[in-house]
Amino acid sequence: FLSAPPDINMMIESARRHGDKIFIVEDNDDGSQRRLTFAQVFAWRDQLVPMLGIAKGDRVAICMRNRAEWIVAFLAVIKAGGVAALFNSRGAPSELVGMIEEVTPALVLADSQRAALLREGGYTGRMLDLTHPFDEADIARRTEGAAGTSLSLAGPNDPCTILFTSGTTGRVKGAVLSHRNLITGLMAVQLSGMQVLHNVARQMNLSVETLLQNSPQQAVLLVYPLFHISGLGSAFLSPLLAGSKVVIMRRWDADAALRLIEAERVTMFSGVPTMLWDVLNKARLADADLSSLRNIGSGGQALPVQLLDAIRAACPHAMFGTGYGMTECSGSIAQAVGEEFVRKPESAGRLLPMVDVRIEGPDGSALPVGEAGEIVVRGAQVMGGYWNRPEDTAACLSGEGWLRTGDIGRIDEEGYVFIVDRKKDMVISGGENIYCAEVERVLAQMPGVAECVAFGVPDERLGELLVAVVRCGDGADITEAAAMDWVAERLARYKAPGKIGFVSEPMPRNHLDKLNKVAMRARWVDIYGDA
Ligand code: ATP
Ligand code: MG
Repeated sequence: FLSAPPDINMMIESARRHGDKIFIVEDNDDGSQRRLTFAQVFAWRDQLVPMLGIAKGDRVAICMRNRAEWIVAFLAVIKAGGVAALFNSRGAPSELVGMIEEVTPALVLADSQRAALLREGGYTGRMLDLTHPFDEADIARRTEGAAGTSLSLAGPNDPCTILFTSGTTGRVKGAVLSHRNLITGLMAVQLSGMQVLHNVARQMNLSVETLLQNSPQQAVLLVYPLFHISGLGSAFLSPLLAGSKVVIMRRWDADAALRLIEAERVTMFSGVPTMLWDVLNKARLADADLSSLRNIGSGGQALPVQLLDAIRAACPHAMFGTGYGMTECSGSIAQAVGEEFVRKPESAGRLLPMVDVRIEGPDGSALPVGEAGEIVVRGAQVMGGYWNRPEDTAACLSGEGWLRTGDIGRIDEEGYVFIVDRKKDMVISGGENIYCAEVERVLAQMPGVAECVAFGVPDERLGELLVAVVRCGDGADITEAAAMDWVAERLARYKAPGKIGFVSEPMPRNHLDKLNKVAMRARWVDIYGDA
């Protein structure tokens, strides 16, 4: 590990050896398709690097939908020693300009739509629209006065990229990940993948070499946004290093996903639960061929049990995997794939190598194995801080590099992590701790419930009152009393919600399908809260 390259470009450079293998497949908006080899992507990157006109350490915003240009832009920026600030491409003009103000980039690399939105939002700085064919003269004019691109190597602790968190618990924050952070995150996943490979080889009574020789090139369906760590790490950088094919989806479309899975013989598909549902339902209706899928994954949030059963039935030959991680840790810190997952399906994964974890009680003391408390993490994949937010950084990162994740969980004697809830979502009602996630899990299993959320509102007598809000599925009609009974029969009495409200509209969710509990709570606090 100590001999790991200090600069991620060295690692990326090794992918040149995949040469004429296909790296990127992408449907264009006009229905045609692009197929780019590893060699072509490297050539394109090398052509872009000198056009950037940036100096080492300059921040460059990447503001595009998922597309080949995004990947080339990222590779070029970090090759030039810049820091790639990854913008949420679905942001409104005001949000995009807000991110610009936050990271003050020397240059923006955009697609045409985002370039227009940024100008509309009042951005007047340097910008290259990478989706327009290059006009060398124009670029020369636009980059006039910019510093010459320096190709000096970055040190291990130099920042490489800034990724924004999902904003589930409040305002988004830009986690600054260094070269060392990203390299370690990728290596941890690779090491864990090797373990899985050994398990599979053993089960099939084959050597790892034979298994590898007989397996075709892996093909990954890229559906996560590239600006999120799940897209960047597992659907772009890992496949790049492994020589896998990346089938890019610019936007989520279940019909297109099915077509691509069949046509490109996609082997790996990881998505948010809604996407997995969509694909399974459509595949059943269309009698589609999902037999190429070998790895199906989901992460970033708890997985509904019904979904897992449906995946197993539809894809009996695929291994299912899940993980636990976060932007601040450069991706996953726990994973379970195949056999590991089957053994403990309730778990969010087994701790990856190279991460140091402890579970802390409310007073900051380390709790014994098996007890639930805040998950606190240290390791070379943990960020150095948030961009331009010293207070937020100090609130979660100790001087010794321990990161308070804000997640409550427990770890068993074999290193499996069980996520209980987010700390901010824990409600203290009448002196009892209630984990909203537990109540949500139980309610979600009630027949007829399409979506549900639980949170606390101020209450004079109890301190906080637990409130749940439910949206019923088509045709279902659930009464408050029936939902109360359902929870009361399955959980301790003190965990039963004091009130259950109903909505008919889908609940607000972000780009990763995460429920915006802050917004839901804000709407209901006036109705049920009394403080
Ligand atoms: P913000 O930090 O801005 O509030 P966020 O925490 O949702 O947003 P991410 O970094 O995208 O931003 O998500 C990481 C979080 O997602 C984790 O801290 C954890 O709460 C949750 N999470 C990740 N994996 C799982 C999982 N397997 N089960 C339950 N929750 C998970
Ligand atoms: Mg977070």
